[in-house]
Amino acid sequence: MAINVLIVDDSKVMRAMIKKTMEMSGLLLGEIRQAANGKEGIEALKEDWIDLAIVDINMPVMNGEEMIDSMREDPDLKDIPIIVVSTEGSKTRIENLEQKGVRFIHKPFSPEIIRDTVNDILRTGEGDEGAA
Ligand SMILES: [Mg+2]
Repeated sequence: MAINVLIVDDSKVMRAMIKKTMEMSGLLLGEIRQAANGKEGIEALKEDWIDLAIVDINMPVMNGEEMIDSMREDPDLKDIPIIVVSTEGSKTRIENLEQKGVRFIHKPFSPEIIRDTVNDILRTGEGDEGAA
């Protein structure tokens, strides 16, 4: 099944890089949508069927953590799997994110890392206990 992906990052260059890495991963991809901040990301999620959201942390207008909290409060969006992709180095901040049921990948990342993480999420079902 082809997966529709939303890439949310304030850097256009980074969005292009994430898109390219995903295309190199061997994952069967459907539509790839892009958004420049959390607010645009939420709007995109409401407009189109998205199977997976790749979300940056540091963004203007609405950052990644705010976007994730907003998704979790929305019955239509709360079950969409999320991978946070960031240069974030704070272990505490990463653990806080993982407690929200999201996966974390350091950027830049390899096609293999994104492939394995996506396959793992789709196999186990995002939000399952012990997902970290
Ligand atoms: Mg950023």
